[in-house]
Amino acid sequence: MGVELKGAGGGGTASGGGAGRVRDAVAEVVADVRENGDAAVRRYSEKFDGWSPEAFRLSAERIAEIVATVEPQVIEDITFVQAQVRRFAEAQRAALHDVEIETLPGVVLGHKNVPISAAGAYVPGGRYPLVASAHMTVVTAKVAGVERVAACTPPIRGEIPKETVAAMHLAGADEIYLLGGIQAVAALALGTETIGRVDLIAGPGNAYVAEAKRQLFGEVGIDLIAGPTEILIVADETADPVTVAVDLLSQAEHGPDSPAVLVTTSERLGREVIGLVERILPGMPTKDYALPAWRDHGQVIVAADLAEAWKIADSFASEHVQVLTAEPRRALTEMRNYGALFLGEGTCVSYGDKVIGTNHVLPTRHAARYTGGLWVGKYLKTVTYQEVRDPETSAELGRVCGRASRVELFEGHARSGDIRAARYDGTPAWL
Ligand code: NAD
Repeated sequence: MGVELKGAGGGGTASGGGAGRVRDAVAEVVADVRENGDAAVRRYSEKFDGWSPEAFRLSAERIAEIVATVEPQVIEDITFVQAQVRRFAEAQRAALHDVEIETLPGVVLGHKNVPISAAGAYVPGGRYPLVASAHMTVVTAKVAGVERVAACTPPIRGEIPKETVAAMHLAGADEIYLLGGIQAVAALALGTETIGRVDLIAGPGNAYVAEAKRQLFGEVGIDLIAGPTEILIVADETADPVTVAVDLLSQAEHGPDSPAVLVTTSERLGREVIGLVERILPGMPTKDYALPAWRDHGQVIVAADLAEAWKIADSFASEHVQVLTAEPRRALTEMRNYGALFLGEGTCVSYGDKVIGTNHVLPTRHAARYTGGLWVGKYLKTVTYQEVRDPETSAELGRVCGRASRVELFEGHARSGDIRAARYDGTPAWL
């Protein structure tokens, strides 16, 4: 479908080549942390981040000192953005109702949304201090009602990412650790002598972090696999080529494995965008990441018409889909596979990443086929309960239960039904 003006280059798919190597590296670290706890965590922090402080957890005094060094304007902006994230998360929480209904006379069935007790918030920091990931993971967990939020972020080239620490603190994190990568995820999932285990780990990260979450899933809950960022833009002939080129590169700079794809109905626009990207790229301060990302994972596809463009876009199941067409809201009905939609020129993926209030922790590598991104609901368990207040109904259910269980050869189950039915019909034969 569609004609490629620019195909993905030599690097193949983002999940290709190094997947086995990443899997093995993660398995080794996880096994070591399981066996040796803090000692292993320290060893890998030293190895991968050159970081071995006296304690990975920041004390309340240290947090206050660090926050005091952050520029007032930065604190103001963090507070502004967290207010947007909180507002949207609160509205989403309010829309999640508990349910209780009577399905038969005296039969009450219900469900409740109960917050998990402890969450780990992973805030990336290998290449960039991803301050905004603190808003997304910590604020959202707190709105859900999670009692204990343990937030982790790695040092950046040996430095404390002070703005990230401030954001974690202002968001309401209960514990803050300067620890990153596989060793952080493993410590949160398994617990060590000094780091308490959590019930669920949320947050984005590089391929190592995403794979660690995948391998530990089951022992710990995870939000979703939120790996290397992706952008896909759907544009028609009305789109401004400069905006398209700049917005594609805004996500390519995340890392060399970040796909940036344009699907357009206009060959002219496609060619102009390729030219512009190639002109802008060499001057970007972040070109070390953006250049290989565009070379290896950049694609420009020309669709015959918009109907085909929506189909192509859907088949990518991209994390971010930006819609720059004459009628951008059509994407709401035409598309179903995406982490987040950005409708029209007034917004962009960078707004979603940094300021606007929807969550930026989103599914990657086709996971948008089966899940949306992080939201307040991911920190809640929808649990059910039941009660039968009418003895006659219980007896009727008991008779059905007896028969249904015996079809499955479950005599013990059947007897639980029998004794309830017997309260009306007399003692069962087996007693
Ligand atoms: P990160 O915090 O995810 O990873 C840094 C850690 O990786 C380091 O602390 C180190 O311990 C570990 N590491 C590095 N090289 C290693 C190796 N060879 N072996 C084992 N461990 C190693 O930060 P990052 O690297 O900057 O990645 C952030 C990622 O998050 C990017 O890929 C970005 O695209 C992604 N992201 C995704 C979303 C989403 O919602 N999907 C949102 C924001 C960011």
